[in-house]
Amino acid sequence: MSNIAPDPPANEHSQLRVSGEIPVPVLINWLSIAAVPLLGFFASRSVEQGEHLSAGLLIVFAVLMVTNLLIYTAFRHKTFQRRAFIGLTTTVFIYVSVSALENGSAIIWLFAYPPIIFYISDARFGIGACLFGFTGVMLLFFSPLSDQLLNLPYSTSFRITMVVALGFEMITCYILDRSRRRSKLGLLALAQEFEYAAKHDTLTGLANRREALAQLEAEYERYLRTSRPFSVLLVDIDLFKSVNDTYGHHVGDELIVLVARTLHGGARKLDTTARWGGEEYLVLLPETDADGAMQIANRIREAIAEKAVMMEHTEVRCTASIGVASIKGAESIDKLLQRSDEALYRAKALGRNRVCVHQSHEPA
Ligand code: GH3
Ligand code: MG
Ligand code: MG
Repeated sequence: MSNIAPDPPANEHSQLRVSGEIPVPVLINWLSIAAVPLLGFFASRSVEQGEHLSAGLLIVFAVLMVTNLLIYTAFRHKTFQRRAFIGLTTTVFIYVSVSALENGSAIIWLFAYPPIIFYISDARFGIGACLFGFTGVMLLFFSPLSDQLLNLPYSTSFRITMVVALGFEMITCYILDRSRRRSKLGLLALAQEFEYAAKHDTLTGLANRREALAQLEAEYERYLRTSRPFSVLLVDIDLFKSVNDTYGHHVGDELIVLVARTLHGGARKLDTTARWGGEEYLVLLPETDADGAMQIANRIREAIAEKAVMMEHTEVRCTASIGVASIKGAESIDKLLQRSDEALYRAKALGRNRVCVHQSHEPA
């Protein structure tokens, strides 16, 4: 038996965050803060070694890191913060590689680049940045031109080891990052499934009672703010027990789904259709007064009477009774529900397959 609600939304582009995961802007801020003393330290070492240009550039990088942090703190522009950080770190790493700081040993800092870049950007950008970095190091180490221009202090065995280890690290980072992203998507899908299950009825796919109450409360809040009325319909299938007794529980279930479909199909986008319990449903009609709700209820009642569950030799039909109540004055949600229940009770007492509205005696 199929239900009628749409599937839970796909989560490919979900903004949800797995709990415990460090948000990218926060990581960037911490890395920027950590970079300042590091850059300062190497700048002071450069001064000691008489390399004033390097010292100046490292200080400029530190200032730009802090500036990016301050701009983010002021404007909270995540994309700008991330792009600026990637641009800055890439420039720092390129500079460290070509300038052979600390007698060339500073190039080992390149190993910090792949994990950071994979974490803070998407996989495709991470691959691109790593390929760019790896090609750069290959050209730096193995093109005759770079040796002529830069006079690098690296031995051949260091160059080979560095390139192989860097390539190995980049591939490892890519694999780990892919696994992390997949686990994250799996968790988000699971969270969405749980959220969906907590809000929907399994048999019909309609909102369940808990979700209906949540929507009622939200609508009630809106009513208190705007004074725009809303109404509820309590729909109950007539003599449903006899359907179960005559045709079996399975056919009863099919009828419950059929009525749910009819309600859902006839509802407006802003309405909430819920399974309130057994063979009872609640329809929440925002921005609808008692007259409008009566009209909708009668349309629903007629639509239900027209539908049938097809069996081999017969058609199983049902009717429904509907109690209508519209919010009035300062009454509570409980009071509104109680009035719709009383209206439903009256519809049953008057012979079923009918709509009754409960007129409140509260001042409007
Ligand atoms: P009335 O017109 O007064 O509403 O009569 P009724 O027979 O519909 O009402 P009653 O409350 O006596 O019976 C409701 C029946 O609905 C009893 C219960 O077994 C059945 N029911 C409740 N939930 C389900 C369900 O999920 N599937 C099926 N097949 N039956 C259900
Ligand atoms: Mg009933
Ligand atoms: Mg009932």
